Amino acid sequence: MTNALDDLFEKNQQWAAATEAREPGFFTRLLAQQTPQYLWIGCADSRVPANELVGLLPGELFVHRNVANLLVHSDLNALSVIQYAVDALQVKHIIVVGHSGCGGVRAALLNQRAGLVDNWLRHVQDVRDAHEGFLAGLHESLRVDALVELNVLEQARNVCHTTVVRDAWQRGQDVVVHGWVYGLHNGLLQDLKLTAGAPEDVNLAYETARAQLHQRWRQRNSQLNA
Ligand SMILES: [Zn+2]
Repeated sequence: MTNALDDLFEKNQQWAAATEAREPGFFTRLLAQQTPQYLWIGCADSRVPANELVGLLPGELFVHRNVANLLVHSDLNALSVIQYAVDALQVKHIIVVGHSGCGGVRAALLNQRAGLVDNWLRHVQDVRDAHEGFLAGLHESLRVDALVELNVLEQARNVCHTTVVRDAWQRGQDVVVHGWVYGLHNGLLQDLKLTAGAPEDVNLAYETARAQLHQRWRQRNSQLNA
């Protein structure tokens, strides 16, 4: 009987062999330690493979992914990842990455029902409702991707508010929080310019990024209406 997943094992063997051929001793070296500089908090979407799109190898990126790249204050899973990344691995950067055309964000925006996940996406709806006035001023076709970016800003700010990051900053540890968005249509990352490396940076970084976001999307909106 052939296994429907044989393909994956075959591809895995090819990948391992090619990696080892390119860099002999690659896997045995990784056994000894992982020293990633970055923690990536991204969407679970299969079209947004974290390592691949920034060209990083195993061992170079610590990754947490969930539907719509959320950092919920009481999510023990995500908080544990951040704690281990900051305290044990001493990552220098935590990057929240949203992506255009996010199905989770779309469902949240349009109140589409999909089941249990609706409860998770309620957090995105909180973001939507907090920015209701701004979103209402945009053409329908722009709202999903604008909400994707607003959601990144909110989640990045949530990361800044975790006890883990607060404590690290208080100790004087060098860790910077960023908010990025990935374009499904062109494979490119964009920095949303929310960059915070100290408690006193957070509000200004958020306000500045949000002002730029508003300007960018209002400009797109007026081009659409022109
Ligand atoms: Zn997504």
